Amino acid sequence: MTLPSPLVPPARVLLGPGPSDVAPSVSRALAAPTVGHLDPYFLGVMDEVRAMLREVFGTKNVLTMPMSGTGSAGMETLFVNLVEPGDRVLVGIHGVFGGRMAEVARRCGAEVVTVNVPWGQPLDVEKMREAAKGQSFDVVAMVHAETSTGVLTPLAPFRALADELGAMLLVDAVTSLGGVSIGVDEHGVDGIYSGTQKCLSCPPGLAPVSLSERAWTKLKNRKTKPQSWYLDLELIGSYWGSERAYHHTAPINMLYGIHEALRLALEEGLPARFERHVRHAKALTAGLEALGLELPVPEASRLPPLTLVAIPEGIEDAPVRKALLERYGIEIGGGLGDFKGRAWRIGLMGTGSTPRNVLLCLGALHETLAGMGWKAKGDPIAAAAAVLG
Ligand SMILES: *Cc1c(COP(=O)(O)O)cnc(C)c1O
Repeated sequence: MTLPSPLVPPARVLLGPGPSDVAPSVSRALAAPTVGHLDPYFLGVMDEVRAMLREVFGTKNVLTMPMSGTGSAGMETLFVNLVEPGDRVLVGIHGVFGGRMAEVARRCGAEVVTVNVPWGQPLDVEKMREAAKGQSFDVVAMVHAETSTGVLTPLAPFRALADELGAMLLVDAVTSLGGVSIGVDEHGVDGIYSGTQKCLSCPPGLAPVSLSERAWTKLKNRKTKPQSWYLDLELIGSYWGSERAYHHTAPINMLYGIHEALRLALEEGLPARFERHVRHAKALTAGLEALGLELPVPEASRLPPLTLVAIPEGIEDAPVRKALLERYGIEIGGGLGDFKGRAWRIGLMGTGSTPRNVLLCLGALHETLAGMGWKAKGDPIAAAAAVLG
């Protein structure tokens, strides 16, 4: 073979559904010298990562740590550990990721009941209550921030439903962690997972998870071992706990990366960080509306880190995204499922949620659409600037 040249990846502006732009200090942390996974230095890193993760999740849960793998590995971790064959699982579906949860639960041998709402709407707790009537459930599962549609669903009503059913509440927080307040303890969440490449602005590769006391008890009292050895939380907990028992080699440098990403989030302050995501999302939506574009998600349910935009009549999806990428180096997301070819997804996540990116995205989109004959209603830059102040 001919030897390939060393890689020189292009420097993109990542404004899609993830991965988001990596913070420069996170990139530097990733490039730091690799040490052994039982090196005293590294054990200190693990303790700090865990302590910071608890803060960002809003929990005192002992069993809180990043799993090796992406967000979907976090999803799988909760289900393989907490769901035994024959368990009954109620899953709300309003996009891709609720559907994935249901599929993973079925593969664990659960009896799964799904409750769908139209994509672009928040989950409907009354509809789930109705569907659960007269039945018992072990688990209620839901996606907090549905990245496929840009919808945020409040957790409290689902905790109340899980209480009525005597069930545990499992939550997908892949796009909420670090971008939207979660409050794991405040909302009585029993199991939660996330990823690094959305609002934490770290490359993909780790899946932070946290389990309540109740979930831990359920895991301890399983009749059968979890079918996944790699994701077995009792075994991994022994490495993250005081025993430091080897299970698998931790992805050392990724842990440096998340250490820095969590540190940045806490240094900024979580309330300020969440407020920043809201402010920039509002500026973006003001600009998109001035462009004359429609936002399918009702205002009260919009997810600040990710905005869904309807593709207008007469404009084609792919050429617009191609132009944004090739001419401006900007990546935005296409639609998924019900929104395939019908919507774009614009992410302002973590370090990517900046005034610069709001104006850059609006300006580039305006230029691109104008070149295709689209007439803007107003001035998107002025509309966004008015919100930014
Ligand atoms: C991205 C995402 C996932 C999957 O994460 P991967 O890192 O792609 O495995 C799951 N749930 C939600 C809500 C997501 O946004």
